[in-house]
Amino acid sequence: MSQFNIAVIPGDGIGKEVIPEGLKVLQAAAEKHGIELSFTHFDWSCETYHKTGRMMPEDGLEQLKAFDSIFLGAVGFPGVPDHISLWGLLLPIRRAFNQYVNLRPVRLFEGLQSPLANKKPGDIDFYVVRENVEGEYSAIGGIQYEGTDDEVVLQQSVFTRKGTDRILKYAFELAQTRDKKHVSSATKSNGLFHSMPYWDSRVAAMAEHYPEVKVDQFHIDIFTANLVRMPEFYDVIVGSNLFGDILSDLGPACTGTIAIAPSANINPEKDLPSMFEPVHGSAPDIAGQNIANPIGTIWAAAMMMQHLGHPEMHDTIMTAIETAIREGHALTRDMGGSANTQQLGQAITDLI
Ligand code: ATP
Ligand code: MG
Repeated sequence: MSQFNIAVIPGDGIGKEVIPEGLKVLQAAAEKHGIELSFTHFDWSCETYHKTGRMMPEDGLEQLKAFDSIFLGAVGFPGVPDHISLWGLLLPIRRAFNQYVNLRPVRLFEGLQSPLANKKPGDIDFYVVRENVEGEYSAIGGIQYEGTDDEVVLQQSVFTRKGTDRILKYAFELAQTRDKKHVSSATKSNGLFHSMPYWDSRVAAMAEHYPEVKVDQFHIDIFTANLVRMPEFYDVIVGSNLFGDILSDLGPACTGTIAIAPSANINPEKDLPSMFEPVHGSAPDIAGQNIANPIGTIWAAAMMMQHLGHPEMHDTIMTAIETAIREGHALTRDMGGSANTQQLGQAITDLI
């Protein structure tokens, strides 16, 4: 019998409400398929920060290292600056565990209304492959002549050949497994002088190894416009940390609600744990009301089981999500229903 140890970090806000629903669904799917999952909870969050001055203990990464996967809700809450909640937990985990791929599937489900006119299920079905550990999200830079009229802030980006090539390779490999075999690269080489021309040159070099994959590239401005105008054009989208971030919020927004979107922080070499979370944040505006949609978290759980080598569990969970949305009797408010978080989590669990 396969056995996996999962580190669970519910975090802040609605993270604490959606994670229990994800665990319920995981447990049901694991029982169905004869897999043993053991969950270890960590209460690391902005509350921990208020109490201890740290988002996680000093040896936090060491504690997580031995787990098979990390299942995360969301971190961040008013009163704690974003750079503390992000750089105190999320980003160190992504970087220390070499989770250099951020994989975000985007799909329009039957039963949900896209805000784009005349879009049917099947019209929106693509992946965003986002570079997750370097690029624009760098702490290199700073302020000079602070407080004077000459004040100047520099923010550096970092694009290494290794870091660029490995994310591009992941995107091309993924495209090869898909019907359309199509990679679209997000760039801005007409504005960013060094980084994006380099990115484009690495895309061209990688494309030579994949003659059967169709490749194109668009500047990020027209890319966002095209995504809204003709989402059916896209298959595998690859972008730097910043561009991938933007496109992976825009994508799910085109499918009716960002709350169903999952995010997998993957270490493809599997020598250290990968981390699975919903795309959405802690949503302080709706926290504590039991109205958060747990589907982004549940879909992330399905991706976790796929990564751990159990596609049958992934498929069981996805079928339950699809059925729940199609039948539509336990939908949360963001999807036009009136069910609460637990009712939707329970409906999906019951379908399993
Ligand atoms: P972050 O900076 O962590 O991405 P954010 O400020 O961008 O956070 P989110 O927490 O992602 O914001 O939420 C954006 C809005 O979407 C929230 O105000 C909330 O109303 C809505 N929302 C987010 N997640 C959910 C959910 N699971 N269910 C219902 N609504 C949600
Ligand atoms: Mg956000």
